[in-house]
This record gives sequence, structure tokens and C-alpha cells, in this order.
Amino acid sequence: MKKINRLDKRFLEQFLSTPLVRDKLLKIQEEIGIETLSRACAWCKKTVAEDEPVYMLPLSSKIDLSNLHGLYIPLTLFSGEILIALVPTKDSDAWKNGKHLMLMACCEECLEQMETALKNDIQTFAYMDEASKR
Ligand SMILES: [Zn+2]
Repeated sequence: MKKINRLDKRFLEQFLSTPLVRDKLLKIQEEIGIETLSRACAWCKKTVAEDEPVYMLPLSSKIDLSNLHGLYIPLTLFSGEILIALVPTKDSDAWKNGKHLMLMACCEECLEQMETALKNDIQTFAYMDEASKR
């Protein structure tokens, strides 16, 4: 696992903890709509129907995301690919169990591809936990 540069971590934390960042993300979320965001596969971006099963891939973040509870945030991979992840609310079981980011996949194939991509990438600030079907 790669170690995060201490200066980068501090910078990112300061940036992510500002009210401006929260407001901006909230605005984007309202524009796109929570319905759309919550049903979109983080990998292929397909919209999943309400009654279809989805897979959840939780990540633990080394960066403090507590300013971003309940918000969808973009994770940019080195490849340029953007994954949309949810920061669980403060009182959710996910957050209490150290799951700071939740990625949703529409199918096993997307889940596997996302896991592989993340293994070589996002570890700089987050690490993966076991995926679960919901
Ligand atoms: Zn998908």
C-alpha cells in the first residue's frame, strides 16, 4: 500500500473541511437529483431500477470526510475515470463501522472491474473493505 504524502493529506483535509466545498457539492447533488445519484452504478454509470439488486463497495478513508456526511463526492482515478461515492451520514451504521465512502455497482462484473481499478489507485487515501450485496 502506498503511503499518502503528509502535506497532501493536510491540504486535502483543509480543503474538504471548508463550508464552500460542502455547499458546492450539495448544490451539484440537488441539480442532478439524489434519485439519479443513488441509483447510478459508480463504474458504468447505468441507472439501476428500484427493485434490482446492487452491490456495495465500502471504502475507509485516511482523510477526514466528516464535513461531507450524506453527500455524493467524485473520486478521480489516475486514469481520469470519475467514480461517484457516497459519504454515509454520521449516525449510519456504515460510518460508525469506519466505512467512510460507499460505491455502488449494478452487477458483479462492474464490481470486479471497480475493485481492480481501485486496488491500483485510490489506496493513496482510501482502502477497500469487503464488498457486499444489498
Ligand atoms: Zn455497472
